[in-house]
Amino acid sequence: MPDIAPPAPPPEAGIRPAFDNSYARLPDALFARLPPTPVSAPRLLRLNTGLAGELGLDAAWLASPAGVAMLAGNHVPEGAEPIAQAYSGHQFGHFSPSLGDGRAILLGEVVTPAGLRRDIQLKGSGPTPFSRRGDGRAALGPVLREYIVAEAMAALGIPTTRALAAVATGEHVFREDALPGAVLTRIAASHIRVGTFQYFAARRDMGSLRALLDHAIARHDPAAADAANPALAFFAGVVARQAALVARWMLVGFIHGVMNTDNCAISGETIDYGPCAFLDAYHPETVFSSIDHQGRYAYANQPAIAHWNLARLAEALLPLIGADEAVAVEQAKAVLAGFSPAFGAAWKAGLLAKIGLSDEAPGDEALIQDLLARMAENEADFTLAFRRLADAAQGDAAGFRALFADPAAADAWLAGWQARIAADGVSPAVRAAAMRAVNPAFIPRNHLVEEALAAAVQNDDLAPFEALLEVLARPFEDQPGRERFAAPPRPEQRVRATFCGT
Ligand code: AMP
Ligand code: MG
Repeated sequence: MPDIAPPAPPPEAGIRPAFDNSYARLPDALFARLPPTPVSAPRLLRLNTGLAGELGLDAAWLASPAGVAMLAGNHVPEGAEPIAQAYSGHQFGHFSPSLGDGRAILLGEVVTPAGLRRDIQLKGSGPTPFSRRGDGRAALGPVLREYIVAEAMAALGIPTTRALAAVATGEHVFREDALPGAVLTRIAASHIRVGTFQYFAARRDMGSLRALLDHAIARHDPAAADAANPALAFFAGVVARQAALVARWMLVGFIHGVMNTDNCAISGETIDYGPCAFLDAYHPETVFSSIDHQGRYAYANQPAIAHWNLARLAEALLPLIGADEAVAVEQAKAVLAGFSPAFGAAWKAGLLAKIGLSDEAPGDEALIQDLLARMAENEADFTLAFRRLADAAQGDAAGFRALFADPAAADAWLAGWQARIAADGVSPAVRAAAMRAVNPAFIPRNHLVEEALAAAVQNDDLAPFEALLEVLARPFEDQPGRERFAAPPRPEQRVRATFCGT
């Protein structure tokens, strides 16, 4: 009888990721081990080759049948140890003790050529023990939305999880309608959330809480390991990162939309792009999320909510901060008290830079407040107002004025600003260049995102998605011929509400 040849392995064009899965080595209570659920007809829609390079992953392998099989959840490559992570969360202020990865699987971690540890997670990869009544799947629209916004944030220089790939599943997901399904490959410094600590604190599982803290410190705050009180030093690190992050969001007009404690990463990266949106016309009370009826997560509420989330983290960490609870509470409060000054300093420094000032003089804070008040009153476009102010620094204020419902309101402010900048001796060209380096021309405007998603979902046309990604990759450069992408929505294009789409 002839020998029967063994089945051929899947064709591989290059090198598989070299996984090193530190989270999967933690105690069992932190996660459930299970593979992603395969999909019927995986098709690679987008691979982020630049990011693949940064991660030290072989883009040719990722685009090969074996790579796409991994990105779809159909094949678990050697070295991956797929898990769904456990976490809790305060959702709109109400505590849910058992959330967890209900539609995501952490394949494992890689260490980049630059020495950074990064999670590789599939989102939309099928049910897990944490799915409750959900199907574990993601629809194409929200997957592409997360891809666009995450990559736009990265190009803006804002800490964020990244999008490595989007794969169509060839299956439908059933929401209000049947929608095409997709899987997003998300890259993160880690997926540890405030809610991850809450999960073990709520269960009084001190062993797991301690193991999680030690892991988080090693990963995100190694210096805290040598501090007198490592838990407190770690908390201080998280506070500092959140203060800086929320300031960065607000300086580009970003509204996260669901700042629940399970969507608050201790790495300081922006995570979970659901009903997020960017301001067009500036107003501090702007809310987009269709489920945020109270305006809890409104633009200007974001620092207060981050502070609230951090107080929840402090509560979870208390037993690790000290055995005497009253003392631990006082210590945590003292650290948390640093949030508002840190946020305020980052916000003010950012706004000074946005209006072309490199240091603060008396009266500058009032100048900023006056500008924001006039912008709100006159429905000035947030992004363009600062971008056009760079032109005004070079003597052309027409574009800036035109953004105000009443241009006279702009004139009154410009007079004070011009007097201020005349005093510091910086040349107009140098000031304008510095302003253009911090005030983007291009943000993922809601109407453009919706347009790209509609073409992809309704017509299987990815061209608008690709075009938008290309523009957003260079947000601080004027891109002649692409003015349409910088323009605010016309009234009929304005997006008033955004949806989670889960
Ligand atoms: P999110 O709104 O994406 O932050 O998710 C909140 C919680 O709901 C997390 O525990 C998710 O894993 C879970 N979840 C969201 N969508 C689904 C889904 N389609 N299937 C299962 N769980 C889901
Ligand atoms: Mg979430």
